[in-house]
Amino acid sequence: MTYSYEAPVSQTLYDRAAAVTPGGVNSPVRAFGAVGGTPRFMVSGAGPYLRDADGREYVDLVCSWGPMILGHAHPVVLDAVRAAVSRGTSFGTPGEGEVELAEEIVARISPVEQVRLVSSGTEATMSAIRLARGFTGRPKVIKFAGCYHGHVDALLASAGSGVATFGLPDSPGVTGAQAGETIVLPYNDLAAVREAFAAHPGEIACVITEASPGNMGVVPPREGFNAGLRELCTEHGALHVSDEVMTGFRVSRQGWFGLDGVVPDLMTFGKVMGGGFPAAAFGGRAEVMAQLAPAGPVYQAGTLSGNPVATAAGLAQLRLLHDTVYEAVDTASRRVRELVAEALTKEGVAHRVQTAGNMFSVFFTDREVPDYATAATQEVFRFRAFFHAMLAEGVYLPPSAFESWFVSAAHDDRAIERIAAALPGAARAAAGATA
Ligand SMILES: *Cc1c(COP(=O)(O)O)cnc(C)c1O
Repeated sequence: MTYSYEAPVSQTLYDRAAAVTPGGVNSPVRAFGAVGGTPRFMVSGAGPYLRDADGREYVDLVCSWGPMILGHAHPVVLDAVRAAVSRGTSFGTPGEGEVELAEEIVARISPVEQVRLVSSGTEATMSAIRLARGFTGRPKVIKFAGCYHGHVDALLASAGSGVATFGLPDSPGVTGAQAGETIVLPYNDLAAVREAFAAHPGEIACVITEASPGNMGVVPPREGFNAGLRELCTEHGALHVSDEVMTGFRVSRQGWFGLDGVVPDLMTFGKVMGGGFPAAAFGGRAEVMAQLAPAGPVYQAGTLSGNPVATAAGLAQLRLLHDTVYEAVDTASRRVRELVAEALTKEGVAHRVQTAGNMFSVFFTDREVPDYATAATQEVFRFRAFFHAMLAEGVYLPPSAFESWFVSAAHDDRAIERIAAALPGAARAAAGATA
């Protein structure tokens, strides 16, 4: 594939990066491995826009993979960060900001009675799994193919996100012992969960699931799926761990829990709650959380956990997230979805737009996508052409057909008009693409 435009400064930076960093990036999905071409090195963001090192502006439909729900450089969040920084950046002691952020989470999400702050979603899911095993005294974990829970050894089996994007086999470096206690099942298949519980009586510590998966593209739970997981976990004495790192505080004030009301034992959060800084959390029933050190015997810790700058950013962002903000995000999401569907339909491109609250993604297939096996059958070569046509017109999509698209409350008429202007050409490129 040839590209009709260039990004010489990004290319130079990428060459330098590749010399000192594996693959030139610090997180695989940032590379353009699945779409080809030069990853754009961004230098600044404002509202719905990003500016790259070559001085080109893009409408951002990645939003840092979810966190920037208010758009980039929101003035209130920046003020909170400046105020926090001026007081010092890390003390290694408890501080009031941590209490306030924990109180905000507990106040919003009723199943969360206690919460522990960490620095990444990976740490949150890793710790939740350890806690579930410690609490139940059982070894095994059920996860679903295509769900991504960070790069935790035991959870990389058949994972989504970059693992799906690059079609990687289960990662080298993860031993049989680490992955051997993980049971991977097809998503949206309650019968498979029932069978796994029957096959491993008294051995399953927890079922971990994305509350609504966004890491194999957007594949929402079928009616009754999460409630069914809840029932099976209760019946078999296992914990239900709902990973809301992506959906939490994004799809509603209370995340996916606010939309389906299913009460898990443990939940994990990240992305939006950090306001663009490394802050994440796991929490749930007080009885379970009481097993964590120093209250209980399950060890978990972090030098920068509850960092004052990160908590100030997260708290400032969460405090701005009222229903009116979610209405704005939902509206922007609906408008973009409709425009994409209209443009692809006009060019006769088989596609399916799947939605979970204001998260959505476009599969280049005409089938319903209920699970990862189906997602993997889409025509990725059409996405590649579509992606580069949008990029050339100044719209930055996730560089993978297996990721959610994200909008923010800052995606206003002007930003959406720019997306609308780019779409007809991108739909033609998708229609004309060959494998
Ligand atoms: C992003 C994500 C993670 C991992 O979070 P990191 O902060 O990247 O470690 C875990 N679970 C889900 C559902 C995610 O989307």
